[in-house]
Amino acid sequence: MEIRAKEKVKREVKYICLECNTEELIPEDIVRIFDISDDGDIEEPPRFRCENCGGPMVPEDYTGVDGIHYTIDDYR
Ligand SMILES: [Zn+2]
Repeated sequence: MEIRAKEKVKREVKYICLECNTEELIPEDIVRIFDISDDGDIEEPPRFRCENCGGPMVPEDYTGVDGIHYTIDDYR
């Protein structure tokens, strides 16, 4: 496998807080690490905690490592 070190295009996943609607861009690499290490419920995408209000942040649009597509609409 070839890895291009000069690759600068970093994909980001937009997370939105369900409580206060704060938006945060999280590098997809980070999301994937959490997704893979989360060996519990594969139905759930990795969640992050809102730094503003402590509420749950969920992805606006994200396809997980298991091929499951999540959108914010799943939570509203
Ligand atoms: Zn919040």
